[in-house]
Amino acid sequence: QVTVLRLGHRPGRDERMTTHVGLTARALGADKVVLANAARNQADTVIDITDRFGGPFDVASTEEPKRLIRDFEGRVVHLTMYGEPVQEIEDDVREAHADDPLLVVVGAEKVPFEVYEHADWNVGVTNQPHSEVASLAVFLDRLFEGRELDREWENPDRVVVPQETGKRVVDPDEK
Ligand code: SAM
Repeated sequence: QVTVLRLGHRPGRDERMTTHVGLTARALGADKVVLANAARNQADTVIDITDRFGGPFDVASTEEPKRLIRDFEGRVVHLTMYGEPVQEIEDDVREAHADDPLLVVVGAEKVPFEVYEHADWNVGVTNQPHSEVASLAVFLDRLFEGRELDREWENPDRVVVPQETGKRVVDPDEK
């Protein structure tokens, strides 16, 4: 079980990024995303995509993300450019995840220090500044060793048929 927690959400500025954290979590193999209450529209978009393209994938909201981190029953990974290189800790995280649920935390603006303290691992995807969407994608792909790319989706309304050129989206019965 992998849950992604998106800390913070600045209306206006973070709108697309928060949506993309949710969509990336879903597409790349997490089971659930938790967004700030203020990100209601973004949560609805991710739910809508799950309804159309399949699941299972849960979307939840929280007013108290720090409490969620504190009370999480499992291991906590915080993605930050200041953390230990992902390539050095991925084996340990994968091993722990075989037994325990994982909470993967990504920020928006400045992340409070207590998040660094509560995390079992602070993990950098490079130690260069970039994006929560990019770091989440690379981290999940490392965690699942690419297996998430072959995932089957349950109960989709629409299925994309891969094409060399052009777009083909069909009803699942036509596939
Ligand atoms: N400047 C903020 C800080 O000091 O916490 C971070 C802002 S950054 C635009 C937003 C989020 O992207 C971070 O909280 C982190 O989760 C993620 N991020 C950015 N670069 C990263 C990196 N190199 N490795 C892992 N995560 C990264």
